Amino acid sequence: MFCTNHPTVETLVTCGKCGKPICPRCLVDTPVGQRCRECGLQKSPLYQVPLPLLMVGIVVGVIGGIIGGMIGSRLQFFVFFLAPVIGTFVGEAVSRAIKRKHSPALALVTAIAIGLGALAGPLRLALLHFPPSDPESLMTFSRYFFNPWAWLFILLAAPSAYWRLR
Ligand SMILES: [Zn+2]
Ligand SMILES: [Zn+2]
Repeated sequence: MFCTNHPTVETLVTCGKCGKPICPRCLVDTPVGQRCRECGLQKSPLYQVPLPLLMVGIVVGVIGGIIGGMIGSRLQFFVFFLAPVIGTFVGEAVSRAIKRKHSPALALVTAIAIGLGALAGPLRLALLHFPPSDPESLMTFSRYFFNPWAWLFILLAAPSAYWRLR
């Protein structure tokens, strides 16, 4: 098998879309696999989310992410089991809302919403001690703000939602 553009170069790779043989020089890596230059530069319809659908996706992602995050920051030890579940669940809800298409931007919005939801509780408690006027209130402030369970939840849940949607 020889490359379509370079008839003297032998290759084992074919474009994942049109099936043309392509050599490493002609190959374009895309999120959906190896493509020839023509197919790789076209935007995959999988990534084209119509605006109304995207708006629904944003609403679901922001509300779902914040609710998921607020629940998540209270889980304490159960965060290990439940954070990936909640992250995947939110990602799945958004994915359904945008008819199983993919959107890296929406993935980011959803991940940020999860973070904001998870930090809402700790942040509210932390702000009661803001601005920290003495070392003791500074300690209290950081103890609330750096609530390890909330941050751990974000670390485990946000990527699960992100990878589901990107
Ligand atoms: Zn192609
Ligand atoms: Zn080539």
